[in-house]
Amino acid sequence: MSKHRVTLIPGDGIGVETSEAMRRVVDAAGADIQWEVAPAGAAVMEATGGSPLPESTIDSVRCNKVAIKGPITTPVGTGFRSVNVALRKTLDLYVCLRPVFSIPGAGGRYEDVDLVIVRENSEDLYAGIEFEKDSAAAARLIEFCNQEGAGAIRPDSGISIKPISVSGSDRIVRYAFDYAERLGRKKVTAVHKANIMKYSDGLFLDRARAIASEYSGRIGFDERIVDALCMNLVIDPGQFDVIVLPNLYGDIASDLCAGLVGGLGIAPGANIGSEYAVFEAVHGSAPDIAGKNLCNPTAEILSAAMMLDHLGEQEIANRIRAAVRKVYADGTYLTGDIRWATRSDKAGCSCTEFTDALIRAL
Ligand code: ATP
Repeated sequence: MSKHRVTLIPGDGIGVETSEAMRRVVDAAGADIQWEVAPAGAAVMEATGGSPLPESTIDSVRCNKVAIKGPITTPVGTGFRSVNVALRKTLDLYVCLRPVFSIPGAGGRYEDVDLVIVRENSEDLYAGIEFEKDSAAAARLIEFCNQEGAGAIRPDSGISIKPISVSGSDRIVRYAFDYAERLGRKKVTAVHKANIMKYSDGLFLDRARAIASEYSGRIGFDERIVDALCMNLVIDPGQFDVIVLPNLYGDIASDLCAGLVGGLGIAPGANIGSEYAVFEAVHGSAPDIAGKNLCNPTAEILSAAMMLDHLGEQEIANRIRAAVRKVYADGTYLTGDIRWATRSDKAGCSCTEFTDALIRAL
């Protein structure tokens, strides 16, 4: 019997390729994992006429407690809700953890980035509470806001609601501080736009300050308005350590940070709750390059290294991270996104060639 059972949700788009590469690398590195492959996304919905997130897939994660997932496409502007968001909600994976670090040779603008994004994963504008333009519910809400003197909303508006709660803020900020303490980090920065959104971001900031006071003397604390954060990250990412943000700002800052170190192709992540953890790259399904063997599987492979840490297999995780650094430092086998980030005119290698080189470097 294998030591660990892990649910593998390959996803769609480039997820099919990155997941296969990840599995090859993790197996070759010597991890004793039994993979339980579980479907999700538009293809399974079309094939079964059922949900894009089948109950059997959720049950598999519940049973194994740990999953790794490739990206799943969310069609823009249709009734199809994001499977990624649904999975986070169903399993209450309230933390989105995204370490951002420089890999020499990967084309980052800085050589010494080492920060961690802790993104709230369950509320904010991402909660999916929306009212369609011209719907009766939207009209009632517009009328209600008018009556309350909360402000006039144009009648031809679609509306998304931004809920931010005390309990949701407390648990994510506490996670950020506990994480900082556990990993020997020094400072947590809370991000907001409380000057404009007093009752949502203002609440988040108040709670962040209150929780920070419990860690005073052990972990430093500062605050940043989200627009200033973006500028400060670009000018000097070295001033940040752990950054905790509400959901939408966390989404945007994650991509910005990925850009600082070489792009989405190398940015790993994890969705964590009190019972379950689902590891996944920051990037989406990249339909423009899907099925062409062009994608960079590093982000999912580094997500798997985070998963191995979580499973107590740090030695194997470190071996994988060391092999990644070796392949990038060597520079012979780099995918097209990295050639572009490094402004090289050499052709990118295929996802398979990159994966083979990585396995040789283990
Ligand atoms: P989502 O909304 O699901 O996050 P998105 O449309 O914002 O997805 P991504 O799919 O994450 O964006 O990626 C944007 C672009 O970056 C892709 O179209 C692709 O060109 C490039 N890209 C993303 N991930 C990779 C990767 N692993 N390898 C190579 N290129 C990538």
